[in-house]
Amino acid sequence: MEQKRVYLDNSATTAVDMEVIKEMQSYFSGAYGNASSFHHFGRQSKSALDNARSKVALLLNASPEEIFFTGCGTESDNIAIFGILNAYGKKGHIITSKIEHHAVLYSCKHLEKSGYEVTYLDVDKDGVVSVEDFKKSVKDDTLLVTIMHANNEVGALQPIAEIAAELKKINEIRKDRVYFHTDAVQSAGKLRLDVKKLNVDLLAISGHKFNGPKGVGVLYVRGGTNISPITFGGHHEGGLRPGTENVACIVGLAKALELSNVNLEANNKTIFNLREKLKKGILDKIPEVTINGSGNKAVDNILNVSFNCIEGEALLLMLDMRGIAVSTGSACASGEDGPSHVLKAMGVDDVVAQGAIRFSFGHNNTQEEVDYTLEVLPKVVSGLRLMSPAWKQKKV
Ligand code: PLP
Repeated sequence: MEQKRVYLDNSATTAVDMEVIKEMQSYFSGAYGNASSFHHFGRQSKSALDNARSKVALLLNASPEEIFFTGCGTESDNIAIFGILNAYGKKGHIITSKIEHHAVLYSCKHLEKSGYEVTYLDVDKDGVVSVEDFKKSVKDDTLLVTIMHANNEVGALQPIAEIAAELKKINEIRKDRVYFHTDAVQSAGKLRLDVKKLNVDLLAISGHKFNGPKGVGVLYVRGGTNISPITFGGHHEGGLRPGTENVACIVGLAKALELSNVNLEANNKTIFNLREKLKKGILDKIPEVTINGSGNKAVDNILNVSFNCIEGEALLLMLDMRGIAVSTGSACASGEDGPSHVLKAMGVDDVVAQGAIRFSFGHNNTQEEVDYTLEVLPKVVSGLRLMSPAWKQKKV
């Protein structure tokens, strides 16, 4: 019998929607011109590129000149951070948080090694940075603030608009503007993003997180921002991201963002109900679990749970054997030792953090899939606990 498959790892990546695939198809063959070519084929692609740019601009409340297509979310983050600092052409201070994705965190670590000073803001137990802490951290030589919108492990939403409002006041009395970048990779498609309301200078998103294709991202750069390219080789994307544009995937990203916005409330309702059903089921059926992060100030699609006396990796493997795909809340998943830097920053005990699992939902998930997960999970947890010396010790 074929193994049943349940995909609960939608924060890692999502299935591409059929409507998106349909929209992309003609740009692989047929309308495959290079958007920089002057002939019919090139013009076809250029027009698709322009349409996609206008569509994304409209959805983010930006203008088309402020939208730059990139190769992924990681690249968008890197262009934002290094591009702003390169344009400054001097060393200075950067403010970020302890819970950033590695695309930002490792960029900041790298910058520290090359002479920049970095402040890593703490978060509270729900994974949220404090605006007061932010205000206190600004220095005379601060050049850049980079704080994510929604966290990828626990879903915690950061007070981006509030920080931007404080930064606006600070910028009014300074010579060097402090630029504000947000990594919105995990909020795009789950919240209606409005760069004017968020009041950021730079914002990064990635197609594959909202049922679009992999290998394509967007960087919004507010008009008038002083930014330099970090790679060289052509005039594409206003010279900020040289390289022949991936037209099919760009078209797909724009369509996916459009669809996710059109269906946002309905999708979020489905996803919220699924997550709450799973959460309630886990709390009812399995003893000694900890829910990491708050549901209130968070996107709806993530449930991060620690199962006492169990290693997250072991649980992930056992669930995979039964067809359920999840992710660990620990950094081990990305080839690192030790518990997740996000849970650590939230004050979660190391042992508890080692037992963390991230369930992340998408609009394709069903009630029946949650029922199956709730049938399998308690058995797997009990089985692993029977083999756990820590659990046995607890029970004597
Ligand atoms: N930022 C966040 C918050 C993410 O969750 C991810 C991917 O997991 C990225 C950046 C990187 O995006 P990409 O996979 O498109 O490089």
